[in-house]
Amino acid sequence: MRSSITGKVAIVTGGSKGIGKGIAQVLAEHGARLMVVARGREAAEQAVGEIRDAGGAAELYLGDMADWDDVRAMVEATVAAYGGVDILCANAGVFPAKKIIDMEPEDWDAVMATNLRSAFLCVKACIPAFETAGRGRVVLTSSITGPVTGFPGWSHYGASKAGQLGFLRTAAMELARYNTTINAVLPGNIVTEGLGDLGADYLATMAASIPLGRLGSVSDIGHAAAFFASDEAGYVTGQTLIVDGGQVLPESLEAMAGI
Ligand code: NAP
Repeated sequence: MRSSITGKVAIVTGGSKGIGKGIAQVLAEHGARLMVVARGREAAEQAVGEIRDAGGAAELYLGDMADWDDVRAMVEATVAAYGGVDILCANAGVFPAKKIIDMEPEDWDAVMATNLRSAFLCVKACIPAFETAGRGRVVLTSSITGPVTGFPGWSHYGASKAGQLGFLRTAAMELARYNTTINAVLPGNIVTEGLGDLGADYLATMAASIPLGRLGSVSDIGHAAAFFASDEAGYVTGQTLIVDGGQVLPESLEAMAGI
């Protein structure tokens, strides 16, 4: 499909699996040229292969997005491959569950590094490319968990996702001088490899708590990210979009019973 995204160069961190893979595929359907970023080779090669098989353009970069040297090298590799960067989807994230009583300081730091520090590092590393291009788009994958809701076991995760939004609001002001917007998608429960690890019982219970009656798909998030990445969203910055099937709306189980 031709759109304002056609021909644009898009980095998707965590683009080898789950939501990131869905974002990469939707952007590729719009004709973007993709840099798929992850640590593990096998899934990244698979994701790149699927985009190429569908007629799209994709390269992969293997690195840890919590590591500044890796992030800088990733952006350099993207510029070398495609000549610039137009769209950054900072999506890589982890969500290991651990209650505060059991959580070690290292557990907290590891989640913050992958989910929050990496967003800062990736945005910082892309600024020169956005300045050169005279425009840019950043889309963060935050979550409803933290910015809107709580969930026992995910205090560190929720703090990292709420922290992304604090970063976003000032980043939107600082990036404006580079004609670059930054916005965040806040997914509800989306069916991914990572979420699947939480078990069938968890998935069934979550689906029952969603007014639209189903978990989300990765393309639901991909389409929201594509909007923020488009030229048409050029006057939208520092904003958030919840994509959750109405999950945050019910006040109680009784409210769901009335549907
Ligand atoms: P996933 O299926 O586990 O995929 C995570 C992706 O991130 C993989 O490609 C993984 O590849 C990559 N990744 C993880 N740590 C990385 C690092 N340090 N450096 C580079 N790449 C890294 O997870 P997901 O469910 O799609 O979640 C993606 C994002 O959506 C996360 O930010 C998550 O918090 C958010 N989210 C998910 C849901 C949901 O319901 N699934 C809901 C709300 C928000 P490697 O492991 O090979 O590096």
